[in-house]
Amino acid sequence: MAWKTLDDMDVAAKTVLVRVDVNVPMENGRVTDATRIEKIVPTVRDLTAKGAKVVLLAHFGRPKGKPVPEMSLRLILPTLEAALGHSVTFIERPSRSDIDALPANAVIMLENTRFTPMEEANDPQMAAFLASLGDLFCNDAFSAAHRAHASTEGVAHLLPSFAGRLMAEELAALEAALGNPLRPVVALVGGAKVSTKLELLGNLVMKVDHLVIGGGMANTFLVAQGIEVGKSLAERDMAPIALDILARAKTAGCSIHLPLDIVVAREFKAGAASETLPTNACPPDAMILDAGPATVAALTAVFATCKTLIWNGPLGAFEIPPFNMATNAAAKAAADLTRAGKLVSVAGGGDTVAALNQAGAADDFTFISTAGGAFLEWMEGKTLPGVAILMR
Ligand code: AMP
Repeated sequence: MAWKTLDDMDVAAKTVLVRVDVNVPMENGRVTDATRIEKIVPTVRDLTAKGAKVVLLAHFGRPKGKPVPEMSLRLILPTLEAALGHSVTFIERPSRSDIDALPANAVIMLENTRFTPMEEANDPQMAAFLASLGDLFCNDAFSAAHRAHASTEGVAHLLPSFAGRLMAEELAALEAALGNPLRPVVALVGGAKVSTKLELLGNLVMKVDHLVIGGGMANTFLVAQGIEVGKSLAERDMAPIALDILARAKTAGCSIHLPLDIVVAREFKAGAASETLPTNACPPDAMILDAGPATVAALTAVFATCKTLIWNGPLGAFEIPPFNMATNAAAKAAADLTRAGKLVSVAGGGDTVAALNQAGAADDFTFISTAGGAFLEWMEGKTLPGVAILMR
């Protein structure tokens, strides 16, 4: 896989449309975590340093095709200017002549692309209008690349297009983990439900050497194998599908790792009395809320034999201590192996970033994707429309 990057393009004196993800959390009109905004700085700085004028395109929240004042991108302007150390001109109703009238190194932000239904409909008129505003298109929003919208895909058909620094970094990390990885590869998939991760599991068993199944979804696999799980979260109707995944793994030579021991409790609350039991000994009135130490030891041993780890989802109900112990211990083991140069570790999707952050392991992972749906679709083996269009 090869995609065009900023290094492949001559951007001097050009107006570059840059699709970014600035979906930062806000409280009372103020940004509470600027991480996503900070991450777009390298691309914007590189472009302006090379003499380009930058026009930022982004959605913010889910305004459902109409203007919603609380979702105006105007609100993030002060944070964006602080992160860039550069003034940003906000244009609500842009025209090419307004943009051309600004100085050569101007950074411009347009209003929320989702304030019109034409964005999510990938309306050709909107794509053409956006394309009329610039000379080149740069996509730096991997997290929005699974959607074929006017500002992520439509416009890319109409202008020479390339990946921004953040997008290129993300694609390189994902390619290293699943496209062309150092083997053996272990994938850890945890979280609540099998039903949301079916395609992902089906794709992974074909591609990885070891698949660790944890969290609530492991319960479904236990039930499928005739093991009782008491009051645990489990999708009993998914048992045949779980068995099918196990059979496919066997055919593909992928080793599946399910919990060897379980941590159970009668209540789903912080500090609830808990006990560690063998996997087949869950009492009828108890819930499995975490994996036990024998499972963690086994996983750590698997990690140690592998060169690449790809991680999505927690091993237990990590938001409620002590049911974060397996997630934390396994994350620390992966972080240690990564720091020692023995493992390439890539993680992402949904709650995974929060789980690895609270484990104190995030900084040591090779790459952590903050993309949710796009990361999962990529793990499912899907071609993301916003990425496909950037291929050389
Ligand atoms: P997901 O969004 O599918 O990655 O699922 C993450 C959620 O799964 C987190 O909120 C966890 O608390 C939850 N979870 C993980 N393991 C369990 C479990 N054994 N029982 C109930 N919830 C769990």
